[in-house]
Amino acid sequence: MKKLLFPFFIFLFMGYQLQAQKLSRTEQKIIQKVKSLEGESIAFLEKVVNINSGTLNQEGVKAVGTEFDKAFSEIGFATQWIAMPEEMNRAGHLFASLDGDKGKKLLLIGHLDTVFEENSPFQQFERINDSMAYGPGANDMKGGDVVVLYALKALSELNLLKKASITVAFTGDEESTGKPLSISRKSLIEAGKKADIALGFETATGFNNATIARRGASGWRVETQGKRAHSSGVFNDRVGAGAIFEMSRILNAFYEDVRGEEYLTFNPGTLLGGTFVEYDKQTSSGSVFGKTNVVAQKAVVNGGLRFISEEQKETARAKMREIVSQSLPQTSSSITFTDSYPAMGPTEGNQALLEVLSQVSEDLGFGAVTGYDPGRRGAADISFVADYTDGLDGLGTMGSGAHTPQETVNLKTINALIQRAAVLIYRLTR
Ligand SMILES: [Zn+2]
Repeated sequence: MKKLLFPFFIFLFMGYQLQAQKLSRTEQKIIQKVKSLEGESIAFLEKVVNINSGTLNQEGVKAVGTEFDKAFSEIGFATQWIAMPEEMNRAGHLFASLDGDKGKKLLLIGHLDTVFEENSPFQQFERINDSMAYGPGANDMKGGDVVVLYALKALSELNLLKKASITVAFTGDEESTGKPLSISRKSLIEAGKKADIALGFETATGFNNATIARRGASGWRVETQGKRAHSSGVFNDRVGAGAIFEMSRILNAFYEDVRGEEYLTFNPGTLLGGTFVEYDKQTSSGSVFGKTNVVAQKAVVNGGLRFISEEQKETARAKMREIVSQSLPQTSSSITFTDSYPAMGPTEGNQALLEVLSQVSEDLGFGAVTGYDPGRRGAADISFVADYTDGLDGLGTMGSGAHTPQETVNLKTINALIQRAAVLIYRLTR
């Protein structure tokens, strides 16, 4: 076996050499520069992970923003903190830009906040071994932010960003967006309108996948009213079906008649029904009072809906409205919808951008990159600009357990992902 393996490795090595030659001399310098920054980039990641930046910890989000602000200023970017109105209870966003006119105009998207608030027990970056570390937001997505920073830093130090047009947008409320979206996403959308290409650095799903489409997310709420009466009268003409049977009818019809389209999902997350119902949106919790011998007066369901296009969203909503309107005897119902994240559809422009990334990846010896199944990715900030620019997401770090206290970031692959991002940005800004 050993005799066979040896020539095989030589062959692999030669293959690597051949691929490495596909990089220009400048690109080879970029790779060397990124490699030389490896220790520094991981130390920077550790530093920012150790600053708590749960979305509602405004001071913490700003403090993480300040670290990136300093770093971007040092490499010649003009930085700006975009604060949110006080009543929105969100810290704001860090924008950093270079205002040139050469090559494609890029928008690079990240976020400063994490799902781990100050009361979470998970607060520290902790190395498990050479290739892994635990850390709140280490992968989602301070790691991705570090990929952006160090790719740009390498290019800047080689004087390759002259006249480039690049806007870095690190939002401070991606995990729980400030409302209304018309204010919290205003600057991001404006930047998207000015850009040719948006690159999202949310967590990567390996070297060979990137995201060219993400589903959008929105909310819905059904309320049903029944006649409060003694249960002995349920089903008769005067008392009717009650609020809970009416809700059951609606949910069952959603399941039977709206379900089925590819990429369309909807999920009732909470269900309350009885005589009196209270539901508090802020805390996502509620209470009910009712008795088994009283016909239910009220029921409330709060749900979410995911979709791949505006058209799919609107069609689903129309079907849901129609179902809701066909109330059982002596009941009435209503449904309301709230917009959250738009969808990012799999456009030709996104596909073309994926091919550029794939070529970069092959030239680096990392293999081709294909589009990731949009059904398996959640919504993200890049979706807000998807209508205005070509886009690609999932260019950040690798790891596991995002949004759990077991979140890890893969330290071994960060440098290679920074190399890939740096060469991609270099090619796009020529
Ligand atoms: Zn994220």
